[in-house]
Amino acid sequence: MTIKAPTLNLPGLGVDPLTQRIKEKEKKWKYKIAVLSGKGGVGKSTVAVNLTAALAKMGYFVGILDADIHGPNVAKMFGIGNTDIYAEKFEDGHFEMIPPTVDFMGQVTPIKVMSMGMMVPEDQPIIWRGSLVTKAIKQFLGDVMWGELDFMIIDFPPGTGDEILTVVQSIQLDAAIIVTTPQEVALLDTGKAVNMMKKMEVPYIAVIENMSYLICPHCGNKIDIFGEGGGEKLAEKEGVDFLGKVPIDLKAREASDLGIPIVLYGDTPAAKAFMEIAEKLVNKLKEIKGDGREE
Ligand code: ADP
Repeated sequence: MTIKAPTLNLPGLGVDPLTQRIKEKEKKWKYKIAVLSGKGGVGKSTVAVNLTAALAKMGYFVGILDADIHGPNVAKMFGIGNTDIYAEKFEDGHFEMIPPTVDFMGQVTPIKVMSMGMMVPEDQPIIWRGSLVTKAIKQFLGDVMWGELDFMIIDFPPGTGDEILTVVQSIQLDAAIIVTTPQEVALLDTGKAVNMMKKMEVPYIAVIENMSYLICPHCGNKIDIFGEGGGEKLAEKEGVDFLGKVPIDLKAREASDLGIPIVLYGDTPAAKAFMEIAEKLVNKLKEIKGDGREE
């Protein structure tokens, strides 16, 4: 006797609507870039925000997603504090958030931001377990009306935790930019981040060395506060690209207090370095992926 097998209806089988939406939205983002660091405090968010501003200055439409749910700084670095986020309701009942656009000197820029920092008062900690963090990041990808973007920049918390795994499993990253300082300890941790990206088969991996040196404001001499050339050596050892060095810029603190990325603040040594790095990055990505959006 043959018995008809019961229809399996297990959770997890089939594609859930949020995952489906992420897949649809991803098609509208030309280049998807992760900004990571092995260690905190190396200037990773500063790099993510300034690359975003540099790309916008070059005329590109850029989205920046702050995947640091527990320590979200990105919106603040663009001068956006706690704010109301509006949402649109769709026919199937799901909501999508409208990402605020960055304004600069009264002008709208082509930068859209989504960060937990806009939703929670600054002095309130976000006490969430990993599963909630994962859900929030997926919603930032799939339940935000990003629209067509030339670049989607994703800023991660330091280390190689759940956040980056969630993103790598949800979308196809085009590049991973790993930020380090020239210091030994930072370089050790950077190596780990580079290797994780290799394991995840991200097509383009590059290192940026931040706080590389200081130009003395009095004598104009170069001072290597954290050592010299470590980022470049690490990139060489790991066989990945080196995109450039960003000096310590005394104007960076002034700019960051005002909520203005240094690239938009003035023609300083760090601003110049960020513009050069952004140009190199665009050329590399065009070389690897071409100019068109994948359909
Ligand atoms: P991370 O994201 O790695 O934790 P941040 O981007 O928040 O680091 O930077 C840490 C601090 O260092 C911030 O106060 C920032 O303004 C400062 N900073 C980062 N890069 C530079 C630089 N090139 N010159 C001067 N200050 C910098």
